[in-house]
Amino acid sequence: MAEAGLERGEHFDVVIVGAGLSGIDAACRLTMEAPDRSWCVLEARDRIGGTWDLFRYPGVRSDSDMFTLGFPFRPWRGDKAIVGGPDIRAYVEETARAYGVAPRFGHRVLRADWSSAEARWTLEVEAQGAVRRMTASFLYLGSGYYRYESGYRPEWPGEAGFAGRIVHPQHWPDDLDYAGKRVVVIGSGATAMTLVPAMAARAAHVTMLQRSPSYVVSRPARDGLARWIGPRLTRLKNAFLGLVFFNLARRRPEKVRAKLLDLARAALPDGFDVERHFGPRYKVWDQRLCLVPDGDLFAAIGAGRVSVATDEIERFVPAGLRLRSGDLLEADVVVTATGLAMRLFGGIALHVDGVAVEAGERFAYKGMMLDGVPNLVLAFGYTNASWTLKCDLTARWFCRLLNRMRRRGETVAVPRLPEPAPERRPMLDFTSGYVARAAALLPAQGPAAPWRVHQNYAKDLLALRFGRIDDGTLELRRGPVS
Ligand SMILES: Cc1cc2nc3c(=O)[nH]c(=O)nc-3n(C[C@H](O)[C@H](O)[C@H](O)COP(=O)(O)OP(=O)(O)OC[C@H]3O[C@@H](n4cnc5c(N)ncnc54)[C@H](O)[C@@H]3O)c2cc1C
Repeated sequence: MAEAGLERGEHFDVVIVGAGLSGIDAACRLTMEAPDRSWCVLEARDRIGGTWDLFRYPGVRSDSDMFTLGFPFRPWRGDKAIVGGPDIRAYVEETARAYGVAPRFGHRVLRADWSSAEARWTLEVEAQGAVRRMTASFLYLGSGYYRYESGYRPEWPGEAGFAGRIVHPQHWPDDLDYAGKRVVVIGSGATAMTLVPAMAARAAHVTMLQRSPSYVVSRPARDGLARWIGPRLTRLKNAFLGLVFFNLARRRPEKVRAKLLDLARAALPDGFDVERHFGPRYKVWDQRLCLVPDGDLFAAIGAGRVSVATDEIERFVPAGLRLRSGDLLEADVVVTATGLAMRLFGGIALHVDGVAVEAGERFAYKGMMLDGVPNLVLAFGYTNASWTLKCDLTARWFCRLLNRMRRRGETVAVPRLPEPAPERRPMLDFTSGYVARAAALLPAQGPAAPWRVHQNYAKDLLALRFGRIDDGTLELRRGPVS
């Protein structure tokens, strides 16, 4: 323990870490489906919302539709499907209030120790400058998947000599005035696609500088059908259409690629080099697809307010960026939309009976527990669909688990690997930079259920809502054990 002699403090049946979409989803589900359990939500920040509170760059928005990113038990009722970060945060806050969920803000969980002898977790929690202990029978991690303190940010030669300003989207400065300025946004992911048209509304000109392109597809910001069929059916429609498209892209990658490039070509000015700037070398859905609502990026290019450079940075120079091709991109402001730094467990040092748990050495059980780690559930969403679709299934499965355990007097649930262990495969089969950089930090998956991490809502819906809890792999015990 980091601080000897701390009081044991309060005990809860469940401690939920994180007050983002997944932590709030889990707390609401507990109030509905396991109402006799005690729980609390610990949140390091001072506000609710997680991702949707942290990111404040111009135009910040989801690129999933809100009908699937929202909570199924409190469906999104706005008329827009793609909305801004502040609206998503407000929705999370209103939902928490409606279900009586009041997170404890300014509480950062530093360490969690599972004791098999006591069948409980002991947590070290930092709040108001002091470290306190509390205990929990279950730990539910809704702590997201990336490092909050700083994003991924490569360094380039000559940065110190650049006369303008360099900013990272994860720490957007309140005082940045880019009106009438020349902006370069480095990156080709969802953040760059959002920032570029948003900044173009005020900047003199915005250049999106990418080393390699992404697939970009336009989608209406409003879902015309939603008004007629209602939010619940819209959610199902969008979840299943997304799956159909994903599977089609995996089965017929060349055909889908040609179609996406044709759509981009039709939305861009004549003569624009679509193959170079929007024709990636990887197959569709080997990385996350970028969505642009109502084709805003293409329209800004058409209006001459935005240009795209597919090139590499050689170095910063006082006036901007010198590229490998020899071109100079003049800039007053450079935005490094270079991505996230992945991190599991929200930086919590996890130990089971004194042995440190390294996520990269474990297997993910149903994509939400870890082999050999008792009474710990992780909310980890989809990469090819809305995060919340999986997190809500996880929370509901967790409530079923708690209820079954209570009925049978069980206190410990731990997934056990078979002998021999399954073949190790990466948990995420994406080739994106942030996934590749973090491969060693993520648990593995196996080739078959329950060690397979399906990126498939339909399969998970069946397995997690209706499948047996007692599946022969999840060991359920009456503890404590010595
Ligand atoms: C810019 C951006 C856009 C995105 N757009 C989409 C999208 O369109 N669709 C989609 O499905 N996904 C999107 N994502 C992924 C997105 O992160 C998820 O949709 C979702 O918001 C994650 O919710 P979460 O609650 O699991 O995690 P987070 O939102 O990351 O929240 C985690 C919370 O846990 C807290 N926490 C972490 N560690 C600790 C600790 N040790 N102690 C206490 N508290 C802790 C954090 O402070 C935070 O509040 C996007 C991500 C980013 C960064």
